[in-house]
Amino acid sequence: MLRSISSDGTSGSWERNAPASMARGARAMKMKSQATQVKTDAPASSSAGGKKRVYLLSEGNKDMKMVLGGKGANLCEMTKLTLPVPPAFIITTETCLEYFEEGTGDLPAALDYEFALKAIEEDTGKKFGDPLNPLLVSVRSGAPASMPGMMDTVLNLGLNDEIVEGIIKTTGNERFAYDTYRRFLNMYSDVVMDLDKEPFEEVITSIKKRKGIKLDLEMEAADWKEVVGEFKKLNPNVPSDPREQLRGAILAVFRSWNNDRAIRYRSYNNIPDEWGTAVSVQAMAYGNMNDGCGTGVAFSRNPSTGENKFFGEFLPNAAGEDVVAGIRTPQPLEEMATKWPGVYEELYKYQEQLEKYYCDMQDIEFTVENGRLYMLQCRNGKRTAKAAVKIAVDMVKEGALTEAEALLRIPANQMDFFLHPTLDPTAQKTKIGVGLPASPGAATGKIVFTPDDAEVMANMGEEVILVRKETTPEDIHGMKSAEGVLTALGGMTSHAAVVARGMGKCCVSGCTAAEVNAKNKVLKLGDVELKEHDVITIDGSTGEVYLGTVERRSAAEDEDFQTVLGWADKMRKLKVLTNADTPDQAAQARKLGAQGIGLCRSEHMFFEPERISSMRAMIVAEGKGERLQHLETLSVFQREDISGILKEMDGLPVTVRLLDPPLHEFLPHSPDEMQSLADTLGKPFSVVKDRVKQLKEVNPMLGFRGCRLSVVYPEITEMQARAVARAAAANKKAGLDPKPEIMVPVVSSAKELRLIVPRIVAAVKEELDKAGVDVKIPIGTMLELPRACETADQIVGTDDVDFISFGTNDLTQTVWGFSRDDAIRFIGRYQEQGLLDFDPFARIDEEGVGGLINMAIEKARTKQPETKVGICGEHGGEPNSVQYFHSSKFDYVSCSPFRVPIARISAGQAAAVEVSAQDKLYRESITNVKRAPK
Ligand code: ADP
Ligand code: MG
Ligand code: MG
Repeated sequence: MLRSISSDGTSGSWERNAPASMARGARAMKMKSQATQVKTDAPASSSAGGKKRVYLLSEGNKDMKMVLGGKGANLCEMTKLTLPVPPAFIITTETCLEYFEEGTGDLPAALDYEFALKAIEEDTGKKFGDPLNPLLVSVRSGAPASMPGMMDTVLNLGLNDEIVEGIIKTTGNERFAYDTYRRFLNMYSDVVMDLDKEPFEEVITSIKKRKGIKLDLEMEAADWKEVVGEFKKLNPNVPSDPREQLRGAILAVFRSWNNDRAIRYRSYNNIPDEWGTAVSVQAMAYGNMNDGCGTGVAFSRNPSTGENKFFGEFLPNAAGEDVVAGIRTPQPLEEMATKWPGVYEELYKYQEQLEKYYCDMQDIEFTVENGRLYMLQCRNGKRTAKAAVKIAVDMVKEGALTEAEALLRIPANQMDFFLHPTLDPTAQKTKIGVGLPASPGAATGKIVFTPDDAEVMANMGEEVILVRKETTPEDIHGMKSAEGVLTALGGMTSHAAVVARGMGKCCVSGCTAAEVNAKNKVLKLGDVELKEHDVITIDGSTGEVYLGTVERRSAAEDEDFQTVLGWADKMRKLKVLTNADTPDQAAQARKLGAQGIGLCRSEHMFFEPERISSMRAMIVAEGKGERLQHLETLSVFQREDISGILKEMDGLPVTVRLLDPPLHEFLPHSPDEMQSLADTLGKPFSVVKDRVKQLKEVNPMLGFRGCRLSVVYPEITEMQARAVARAAAANKKAGLDPKPEIMVPVVSSAKELRLIVPRIVAAVKEELDKAGVDVKIPIGTMLELPRACETADQIVGTDDVDFISFGTNDLTQTVWGFSRDDAIRFIGRYQEQGLLDFDPFARIDEEGVGGLINMAIEKARTKQPETKVGICGEHGGEPNSVQYFHSSKFDYVSCSPFRVPIARISAGQAAAVEVSAQDKLYRESITNVKRAPK
């Protein structure tokens, strides 16, 4: 069938070919019957050592991705569907692994593909290495998971000086022959022999310059011939024996599995290094012969908007690599419809068929050779968040997918898109730095270096970006006032990142190249030096930092997005609560679908500027009497805030965590600040200084914090319990339905709870009795230390303990022994070297931390089956982790307000996996897929 090259090569005229639709049926049939025939007499040598290493396209199918790679498996499937795929054979991924294991640098001895090459020869009627009727092949990589552009491919293989002459003789198309040859020499030198590409490009550029032309299309036969001559001077060592070339190219594709970019891509995308790549060796289809040829890429729906409209681009008289290289601007497919209506119609039919068959939007690579269409690849297409949602909703409407199946197609992680303003991708921008994408959204503003400046400027109506080395709880008011936060240090779970996510504020953390000089108010990023009030834009979804203003746009209330959330809510078994510390956050989270608050950090109420002084006074107090007096003031603040939060979350649970951080965090550290505190309190400087010194800890995260504070200062806990009870009583009296709960943090033994819980119960009871109302206030504890997990049965066996909530941030920290604030320094290196597949502070470590969690749940449920089980770490909004919590039978996850929709979708997906197996039957029973007219 590919013989058309030699017979039609000179005609170059589209009209002279038989209508593509006529030739098609016959061709497809021929391809199929031949392939089948070849299969039956395939020699045993294809499976030496009991292993089948080489498959013909007729021998595989779409479910063999692990063996044949995604590309190979889909080529087989398209062949099965009788689509016009150039014949090929596929060397298995296992053979690639064999190659690495044997380590000889040569192909595995047991690999034999001669029989398969022969099959291609029979199918095409051409012969590999025959100058008069040469078969040229592509040697293509293809892993089980899509790794676009990461590995290598060699095209037009099987050429040498003699064969080029043969092609010229038989086709009369000298330009095509030399164009093809130069492409081959270039690619072989680059991919197989690892030579620098630049001198090769330079050859072409200088000829174009000399001739005063710009485009490849303007190059004539003699020019390409000259290029070939120069290329051979640059690299005289390309083997002339086609079989030697083939061996070299297969080896190069194997090797490309382990090139740096492929390794990096795998580590970012969690693709195991142990999979290996398959190699497809395929007869070439020529898009570069004349104006009746071309090549293109198409999508069955628009991959950026999701619109149900066939979409794509093509380049006449070009080879596939030209599209990728962006040498010329491709034309929209609509133009192909005018130019080559028959081909367009055929392609349209196939994309429709493939989409229906795979039940997903398809990404297709094709080549047209003298008016004949060849399908070179199909796969489920990558798409934007917006397109993913629209396609899912449309396909359910069309009856192509069930809701469960459609839900599983949604990339939960990308749903941030709908919640935050994003940078206009078409906007002009100057990137000046990059850090971690700590909290999504984009913000533009004048830079300021202190939280106070941020507040002052914001009050004047200015938009500011707070730039800090790192943030501490004392920066909160500045973070609140700023549009966004940029820090030089800190990871994805640093203070800045966690707090910003909680506020729904964009944040770039860990921008290590940033030199922040807060004293002189200068920010240096590489060569760029910025002063206070210079404008920057930060993108918390990518971690990028730009100079000046960049246009933004917002994804408003999207109807399709709401539909997807609706499916998730119907299916999910996990409740999704939120981590919120203020009435504003509570209201925002509720709008995003939160079913209550799983973590309300009570200390955040004391960081407000006018409150922190009472807090400090309480901490510096000399004696219990003085402390109680300040606690009374704090109690009023606490009650007001909690009452506001309960009101926003009326009817839903609000879990208030008792004071957690070390007291030292509340105190000032510089002598000036200490002096001013001493002045405010009317105490000698030395009292303040001594107290600060006394509370200073070497390792505060493992120090005097959490319930340990309750043990030493029971009056603090009592104040907090009373504040919760009073707030509940007030709301109840106002006709509301408050549902507060109290949670004790950093517990390591049941004995601590036996001391603390009765005090809480007594304080609550006293307040409720006093108010004369009846509100049930459950009490629970956080499991965030290994010892607490080990003894979960004793913990839930403690009287009045109603629930447990895993604090997975601290638990990860204590299980791994990694400090959350410092681990950023080496976690990246761990990932690079394959010691960690992901950051365990972002995604739950199922093996270690998860193992402990499951053990704790089992102990707890065996002892007290009714115990409510939740999780309130950052992991509560991470899709993989949410799936894990679903399978561990948690009752709820709790996450930052802006992660709530993501958690809803992830929880829905976890449940959908279980039902979609049944849906498969349903899907197969659907025959009529409606489509919008073209
Ligand atoms: P990638 O995985 O990087 O997309 P491919 O194996 O798909 O690599 O090859 C890249 C391009 O090379 C294809 O898009 C196609 O245009 C071209 N190509 C590959 N094989 C052939 C072939 N048999 N005939 C014509 N062009 C081919
Ligand atoms: Mg491809
Ligand atoms: Mg904690």
